Amino acid sequence: MVGPPGASHLEHTIEDPWDRAEEYTCVKCKELFSSIKDRVPYMLPCQHNACGICILKGEDGRKEFACPIDFSIIDGIHMAERNG
Ligand SMILES: [Zn+2]
Ligand SMILES: [Zn+2]
Repeated sequence: MVGPPGASHLEHTIEDPWDRAEEYTCVKCKELFSSIKDRVPYMLPCQHNACGICILKGEDGRKEFACPIDFSIIDGIHMAERNG
């Protein structure tokens, strides 16, 4: 949030939940994160969040994921391994 100097008296007192929607939705499919169906959030190196489904699916079947926000290609993302 960046506002003009001297405008602090105009600050919002009600937090718009959608201001933070990026933290709870996948940057790719815009779906809310969930612990079911592998739609768990993964922090990308560019600090955005994408769900496991999109990352695992990759782009066009390739094992890489392009962040739709900054278009950075994430290859070989660090995935949480499932043991057992
Ligand atoms: Zn997704
Ligand atoms: Zn990004």
